[in-house]
Amino acid sequence: MTASSDRHPPEDRHGPGVHHDPPTPGPPGPATDLAWLREAVNLSRLCPRSTTAFAVGAVIVTSTGQILATGYSREADPLDHAEEAALAKLPPDHPHLRNATIYTSLEPCTTRASRPQGCTQLILTAAIPRVVFAWHEPDVFTDCTGAETLREAGVEVIELPTLAPEVRAVNSHLFPS
Ligand SMILES: [Zn+2]
Repeated sequence: MTASSDRHPPEDRHGPGVHHDPPTPGPPGPATDLAWLREAVNLSRLCPRSTTAFAVGAVIVTSTGQILATGYSREADPLDHAEEAALAKLPPDHPHLRNATIYTSLEPCTTRASRPQGCTQLILTAAIPRVVFAWHEPDVFTDCTGAETLREAGVEVIELPTLAPEVRAVNSHLFPS
């Protein structure tokens, strides 16, 4: 509780009926990557729990800092992955994808039993040039080579392990102690 909040003007200067977009961290880059990645981690908390798959969140952001789409694991279908759920909301030839950054709490998967294409392949097909993630997929379910595969294809891949403990905490049910 701060005194300043009590002094906030009661009236909206813009008047009623004006739509205010929530502030975003800004255009993707070194100064904003952590804040955007945190949005992805927050989305992962919405995932229905599964004992056979990770809880992951993903946000696709344009080069100017607008959210194109968001997704999280099992959002619409029990087999959905976060990146897949976000990409499914966009036409595959969406022009902004070619300059976009996808933030995902977990390294994009390469092989999966349930669907023909892993998220790494979906990202390559969408021609997204930049991927930021927090946690290297541990070899719990499959052996993942998402980061290497994307880099070999020319995608800029940035790992921000600062948030990895949070991602692991969201998935703590998969790691009984
Ligand atoms: Zn995946």
